[in-house]
Amino acid sequence: MPRAVWREAWQGSRWKRMREITEIILHCSDSEFGDAKLIDDWHRARGWSGIGYHFVILNPYPDDAALRLGRPQFDQDGVVQEGRALSKPGAHCEGRNVNSVGICLIGKRLFTAAQFKSLVELTTGLIKQFAGTKALGHYEAQKPGSVIKTCPNLDMEWMRNRMGL
Ligand SMILES: [Zn+2]
Repeated sequence: MPRAVWREAWQGSRWKRMREITEIILHCSDSEFGDAKLIDDWHRARGWSGIGYHFVILNPYPDDAALRLGRPQFDQDGVVQEGRALSKPGAHCEGRNVNSVGICLIGKRLFTAAQFKSLVELTTGLIKQFAGTKALGHYEAQKPGSVIKTCPNLDMEWMRNRMGL
């Protein structure tokens, strides 16, 4: 299912205007819940034109109520949602947006097996389409001198290894 979602993202009329992609930058939402719509709201509240990520990978808590009421929505777990069109630069990593794809895992430190499965499919799919693309964590792609971030709170060496990259 996630595979179909990203195929739609770059096929069709937008394909012709596709940017050069050299990096995939992974983030976490630093929230225990959320989805693309909610992040779109959060980013608009910051004065941006809309969601800064191209893809969001859900956990079982798409909104605050699901978490607060203890009602995990398992059918949402691992679902890949489209954010900003892939043909447009994102707003997720200062100085690195022009040629990158931004992927956001919903969560702070705890992520689900379904999220990882979707992440592997999405990442390897993108690397197949944009040959030579590197997968990095936000903390590895930071501008020198900027406030040190740990996002996405995953050891990327470990993750690349697990993904066979
Ligand atoms: Zn980040």
